[in-house]
Amino acid sequence: MAKVQTAEKIEATENAKVKISIIPRFCKGCEICVKLCPTQVLGMEMFKVKVVDIDKCTVCMACELRCPDFAIFVDKK
Ligand code: SF4
Ligand code: SF4
Repeated sequence: MAKVQTAEKIEATENAKVKISIIPRFCKGCEICVKLCPTQVLGMEMFKVKVVDIDKCTVCMACELRCPDFAIFVDKK
């Protein structure tokens, strides 16, 4: 039987300046990124991180750099 390779589910949110990508399967809901974000861009929903207000993102990269599970990525446009 052939093994089917499925793409990782990524939740992407973006505006003209930045794109934030979250891999829900990797997020263990530790809230480190939510507490570190200086402008309250992120929040929790059902024990997973979610983007609440992307327009407040300053692209400081703290969430991506400090996530222990590589579950959140920030791309400056
Ligand atoms: S730091 Fe990483 S694992 Fe923790 S809540 Fe944020 S995205 Fe999820
Ligand atoms: S890059 Fe900085 S401002 Fe943007 S969501 Fe992450 S911690 Fe918050």
